[in-house]
Amino acid sequence: MTRYFEVMKRDGPARMGKLLLEDAISTPAIISERDYSIAGTAYDFGSMEEIAASSPEKTKKLALLPYVPSDLHVEPPFDLTDCEVEGPKGIVLHPFYIAEPKRADVYVIGGAGCLRNPRDLINAVVGVRNRIPSDTALYAPAQATPGNLAFLIYLGIDLIDSTRVIADAYFRRYHTRDGVIALGDFDELPCKCQHCQKLVEGKENAQALVGHNVQKIEEELALVREMVRKQTLREYIERQVRVTPDLTAALRLLDREHKYIEARTPQHRRSILYANTAESLHRVEVTRFAHRVLSRYAAPKSDVLLLLPCSARKPYSISRSHRLFALSIGSHRRYLHELILTSPLALVPRELEEVYPAANYDVPVTGHWDLEERAWLCQCLDTYLKNNKYRKIISHLEGELEQTVKEHGIDAVYTGGGTNDAALSRLSEAVQDACLGAARLGDRRAAQYKAMANYYFGSGAGDLLLAGKVKVKGREIQEENGRTLAAMTPNGSIALSLIGARRLEPLEKYIVTIGDFLPKGSLLAPGVVAADEQIRPGDEVIIRGEKAFGVGRAKMSGWEMAESTRGVAVELKHIQEI
Ligand SMILES: [Zn+2]
Repeated sequence: MTRYFEVMKRDGPARMGKLLLEDAISTPAIISERDYSIAGTAYDFGSMEEIAASSPEKTKKLALLPYVPSDLHVEPPFDLTDCEVEGPKGIVLHPFYIAEPKRADVYVIGGAGCLRNPRDLINAVVGVRNRIPSDTALYAPAQATPGNLAFLIYLGIDLIDSTRVIADAYFRRYHTRDGVIALGDFDELPCKCQHCQKLVEGKENAQALVGHNVQKIEEELALVREMVRKQTLREYIERQVRVTPDLTAALRLLDREHKYIEARTPQHRRSILYANTAESLHRVEVTRFAHRVLSRYAAPKSDVLLLLPCSARKPYSISRSHRLFALSIGSHRRYLHELILTSPLALVPRELEEVYPAANYDVPVTGHWDLEERAWLCQCLDTYLKNNKYRKIISHLEGELEQTVKEHGIDAVYTGGGTNDAALSRLSEAVQDACLGAARLGDRRAAQYKAMANYYFGSGAGDLLLAGKVKVKGREIQEENGRTLAAMTPNGSIALSLIGARRLEPLEKYIVTIGDFLPKGSLLAPGVVAADEQIRPGDEVIIRGEKAFGVGRAKMSGWEMAESTRGVAVELKHIQEI
């Protein structure tokens, strides 16, 4: 447990927190020797007894305890016994050989500056992060540059320093966000800071270059902190890693650590998801959405399936093309089910079009589908059609999208897609033919609530929430007597009432179990006894304890709630004493 560090905000593995040293430091931060005292290596001491006795006086600086140095791929020859410290404590960990890390507030990655190989970098940071408690800070010394800083923070590092850029200045290495260049190679300096002015005038070269390099790393940190606040860091790093092939490789390797990233990715972001790069296809938000459509969602029983293309405007229904489709389909809409095909999300059932990220993504539209996108779409479509059976399929898709589905052998009526009069007539005719003798579907809005409940709380949630006689009123679903069960929020999630939560309780999903008390306002992590492992920040959760039953919105992942000793676990919305 730590008294000196608390995570306040998260954007994937990146966090913003507070480190309580003499002055509280808001992380991610650049720290220096002003913030810590360092005992040095074990070899600076005469004996183990001396090391054990080296425990520093009570201080508000971070005390970095003695450590055993060793090369990156060599196991340290011996281990040190733990030392108690009265103030904030920091321990140096070998990036690859840590049996059981001793308790600390801050962990330092030993030899971080040598982690140049992308695979080493990912293995080291993911490995260390998985071994230390989530409510402790991670410090990577002598590693950050303006070029790699954003990626390091995205990986889950909280503390960095300017050691490397200062050292580089003495080798005449000029740092920019776009990489490092030898000072002599410039015809024109790309920066107009006061230090660069001195470099142009040929004054105090070394000091001026230190000044410039440090300023660039500070500027980059400020930008990254803002990205974490705005929840746009992933979009930024997908661009920023392009500065070197090594950083791009590191992002691709990190994306393969799916469990690590998934466990830290919120249910919902406030920002628009830009799927601009090849890496976007592997984002957790994309794979999670597709996985839920294929495993939690069940389409309403329908004889006819209509495949439609996506639209730039979201949710699709308010776009011009989808309004035209709706007009052409007319009253037959009650006899068919609509599925939207899109990249990178693959399949969006109409009932889920307001869910994140279906209502919040943007993708460069060229009309071309590359091989990877095609394979991903067809793979999802196969599973979908195995889970949900239809008698007839109509494809109102055009160009390469139609060709992809056709070549994959999907047995459908192909209209050729489009939104001009002739195209819409073809759609209208195909729908009329297919819907002859088709069974009528149930209430569309009830189906939407059912689909969303299954999407957020797992298979079966929709049936429990909508059991018996219920009615849809505006954006709410109510019991017959008018009591609210759940409401759809403007960001496309579901807000439960206490009665709604009671209906879902038997599923035993998304439940946070608390101790013997009645929480008020926010539920803090130490009050959590157990939490469903699959809870992610932003999820609607059910709170259950001996004295209380309630509903709230998760502020951290379920596994984090269970192990954290500080921080808000759940923001409460309704709580009832029992
Ligand atoms: Zn400059």
